[in-house]
Amino acid sequence: MTDLAHHIRETPLVDSHEHLASEARFLEQPPDVLQQMFDGYIDADLIVAGADPKAVERLHEPAAADVAARFAAVRDAWERCRHTGYGEAVRLVAQQAFGIDELAPESLAAAQSRLPSAHQPGERLRILRDRGNLDHVQIDHETIPCDADPSGPEFFLQDISWAALANGEVDAEALHTCSGVGVKDLATLRTAIEAIFDRYAPKAIAVKSQHAYLRTLAWQPRDDADAERALHKTLPGAKLDESERLCLGDWCLARGVEHATHHNLPIKIHTGYHAGQGSMIMEWTRPGHLSSLLKAYPQARFVLMHAGYPYGPELIALAKHFPNVFADLCWAWAIDPFSTCEFVRRFIHAAPYHKLFAFGGDTPWPHIAVAYATQARHWLTRALQAEIDDGHLTEPEAIRLATRFMRENQYDCFDVEGTRAALRDVAG
Ligand SMILES: [Zn+2]
Repeated sequence: MTDLAHHIRETPLVDSHEHLASEARFLEQPPDVLQQMFDGYIDADLIVAGADPKAVERLHEPAAADVAARFAAVRDAWERCRHTGYGEAVRLVAQQAFGIDELAPESLAAAQSRLPSAHQPGERLRILRDRGNLDHVQIDHETIPCDADPSGPEFFLQDISWAALANGEVDAEALHTCSGVGVKDLATLRTAIEAIFDRYAPKAIAVKSQHAYLRTLAWQPRDDADAERALHKTLPGAKLDESERLCLGDWCLARGVEHATHHNLPIKIHTGYHAGQGSMIMEWTRPGHLSSLLKAYPQARFVLMHAGYPYGPELIALAKHFPNVFADLCWAWAIDPFSTCEFVRRFIHAAPYHKLFAFGGDTPWPHIAVAYATQARHWLTRALQAEIDDGHLTEPEAIRLATRFMRENQYDCFDVEGTRAALRDVAG
């Protein structure tokens, strides 16, 4: 093993994006090899590869049939996508967590028979921290409130979700629950947003929005009067047309960015590729659509996620041009590992190195997150080794960059220690 590979394996990796299920939900799940292997993104590849969507769904339903039968129903499709990035992660979970070298009905059934009947309290943390060698994880629970996670308050850090508001969805009841403010007009919506940040910002690691699944990322500043008109239409339950929804969404996103900046929280925005299959509107997702927003808020810190895939060069251009833009490779290694290697190599020679984050798994279950971390380490090693082999970096330089990308850059951008201290205060 090279010194570089050894260093990347041993360095505790910051995981800047997960959707991990809570400890309670993890404990409720009966251990099931298929669920723990296939509940990543591979579903989409299996369906695109011809699997019956119902058979794919049953992979996640231990009660539906035994492990061998559930796998046999998707086996042909699995053969077609086993070499994709998602497929590679499935094979890694199989090997690392269950000792399976080759997925087959018999090997899966044997592995299932070796599993205990229930998960243990604390197992979720141990898998991620001890087996995965992760420094901490940042979780998007897709809700606004974020409170300390008692199963690992300094390990499981959380994002305030801004996706619904950035899509112009103002749910007065939900906002009342998390802010204590009744939203009746734009002034009270403003007050509610302020109250949300006062309440949750100290305990949050970032603000996160994946509105690129629901609308274009293109943003423009909006007048209060226009936003107020849209708000008065939607509050009683009327459906907004697209231009009204974008107007109210842009207004809410702007307020979120302002408060996040005031509270020293980076704003994470999904850019590029959509999870799932058969639904993506590619054009919405271009990172370049965010230019006006990036320009309007020079003091904010924007973390643009997923390498903007397949608009990688566009994201590199933004990170090069805007001091307030950081690029995050979360989920990108699994989507397309070669393009992500290419992204790292181009980034090194185009933009300052403090603006790149190496990893986020973007998944609900700990074994899968660990497999994605192994995958990221493997391909990051390849990318940096190629830089050495081509004579662009010395090995010590490559090792230095690896440390930067894997943890130091994230510690510089996110207030990890400040958030941990606030969470300790709440717990204590
Ligand atoms: Zn995600």
